[in-house]
Amino acid sequence: MKKKKLPTKKRMKVRLDNAVRQYIKARDKNLCTTCGIHKDSTLLGYLDWSHKISRTNLLLRWDERNSIAQCRRCHLDWGNGVTEPLNNAINKLWGEGTTIKLELFSKQNQTIKGTPLDDVEYRLKLEKFYKLKLKAILGSYNTEDIIWDDLVDLNQYEQNKQLEKNKVC
Ligand SMILES: [Zn+2]
Repeated sequence: MKKKKLPTKKRMKVRLDNAVRQYIKARDKNLCTTCGIHKDSTLLGYLDWSHKISRTNLLLRWDERNSIAQCRRCHLDWGNGVTEPLNNAINKLWGEGTTIKLELFSKQNQTIKGTPLDDVEYRLKLEKFYKLKLKAILGSYNTEDIIWDDLVDLNQYEQNKQLEKNKVC
């Protein structure tokens, strides 16, 4: 039997970007999280997908704790060093100290090599996860049964890997 061909890692990067970007905007109700303007009232009719830790850190690129919807003006402010509004917004969503945790995590972990995120099948799983979450928002039901941490708690992943290794030995 012919095995179904998997998309490339590069393709999955684009697909994940699209899925998470769409989800974040829906999660934030199409409002700029820092000034409150609705997407339709912005000059561009569009909101940006803003990251606390730069998207170049692939470990946090698709972590919903690391991004919010922002209008272009607020996003530019953030780029120009006005850090408080975005930090406050994230800490309000995920709890005080979240932005500090993200900063620390990004300093200590810079490569996706050896983590599940480097794997195409895992990226497919993550894409499915965000698509489900989006569907839930659009359909006004919640997804308590889908636990983000099960998917992306990288420390847990490392521990499980270690456990499996010990089992084999
Ligand atoms: Zn704004």
